[in-house]
Amino acid sequence: MKDKSVMESIEAALSAVLEQASPRPVVDCSLAGSLGLVLAGDALSDVDSPPFDKSLMDGFAVRFADLSSLPARLTVIEEVMAGQVPARAVGQGEATRIMTGAPVPEGADTVIPVEQTHYDATTRSVEIVAAPSSAGAAILRRGSSLRAGSPVATEGTCIRPQEIAALAEFGHSTVRVRPRPRIAVLATGDELVPCHQQPGPGQIRNTNEPMLVAQIQQAGGEAVPLGIARDNRPDLAAKIAQGLSCDALLLSGGVSAGVLDLVPSELASAGVQEVFHKIPLRPGRPLWFGLRRTTDADGETASSSAISPCLVFGLPGNPVSSMVCFELFVRPAIRTLLGDPQPGPHRLQATLAAPHSARGDRTTCHPARLQVGPNGWTAAPVPWIGSADLQATTRANGLAVFPPGTRDWQPGEAVDVICWDVLPGGL
Ligand code: AMP
Ligand code: MG
Repeated sequence: MKDKSVMESIEAALSAVLEQASPRPVVDCSLAGSLGLVLAGDALSDVDSPPFDKSLMDGFAVRFADLSSLPARLTVIEEVMAGQVPARAVGQGEATRIMTGAPVPEGADTVIPVEQTHYDATTRSVEIVAAPSSAGAAILRRGSSLRAGSPVATEGTCIRPQEIAALAEFGHSTVRVRPRPRIAVLATGDELVPCHQQPGPGQIRNTNEPMLVAQIQQAGGEAVPLGIARDNRPDLAAKIAQGLSCDALLLSGGVSAGVLDLVPSELASAGVQEVFHKIPLRPGRPLWFGLRRTTDADGETASSSAISPCLVFGLPGNPVSSMVCFELFVRPAIRTLLGDPQPGPHRLQATLAAPHSARGDRTTCHPARLQVGPNGWTAAPVPWIGSADLQATTRANGLAVFPPGTRDWQPGEAVDVICWDVLPGGL
């Protein structure tokens, strides 16, 4: 009989995860700390941009009508630096010496770059030797970039460095966003030692914790590393209890069929309700996902609209499996908690650059080298010996996604890819 908790497809598994993830309540966050977060409302401009007619060049502000015959000699009436305000209007036959970023004086309609002039300090006059074809050159008109009251960035925008600058221009020193979700990371296994330690016989270093912490940070979350839980019930129970106070808890290892794979049963004892266990994915078949609903003082389950459940992922222990399951399921969940309307995973279409032999009845995510060429993206699967082969991922910058089925793929065929080297919300 088919086990009900086994998901029939990775798409169904992703829907089951995202159904349980809802955007966190809105907070104010400092602009400086908002990279990768998502705007929870439109941010408006409070002034025109630029706020005044602004010179784009170091040169001379003049009346275009005075340039009908060249060279033209004009009397220099004033100098205006950036940050100063002109005191005098430019009249017929006059010019103001002006620097980039300074307000253009009344009367002037054109700025002539200094390279097209000869300034005579003794007579305080300037000779203009070349002129633009029309008035308005080298002047950025007030409000031409953005009008006061218009949106600088709209709700749902992922904040990148350029949004930070644009928001800073209009004084948004804080922004309305969803806070970074706190994501606990718990590595499990008797064989694990922290990476600063020399492994003894049969031991290995804990690579999943630093990897998952980095993936969480890259996705816009705040990682809460809980260290290593040993493969015994008291240790697992204590560390799981700590993790359940976060928005999500990621465990790695202990979810397969081994004698000491205690994670699913310990999660059940901790009140975590299983949503699914096992998905048709290579690598990543043993993925476990469940929810711990918050209960009030009387032990009643709190209304789901008031408090969101803790999302609990039992990631497979093999590093590449953990990494791939994070990219396919955990990253989209984090982006959803942040209010990202397009949480991913973002698939692109690429052309296969080398033959590939796909085997079995699971979707395969194969580490691949992605490149953009004249005809779009290409994907070359990198040599990879399976879910424990972390080194292959360092030679890859994405995943090629092969649908279930045994067949030999030829170069030139279209394949879906997931690119790793993008910022949260990018692509
Ligand atoms: P498990 O699912 O616990 O049986 O683990 C599967 C494989 O992944 C085993 O070879 C483990 O030693 C390895 N593994 C589990 N957790 C980690 C970790 N945190 N870092 C590196 N390898 C791990
Ligand atoms: Mg284990």
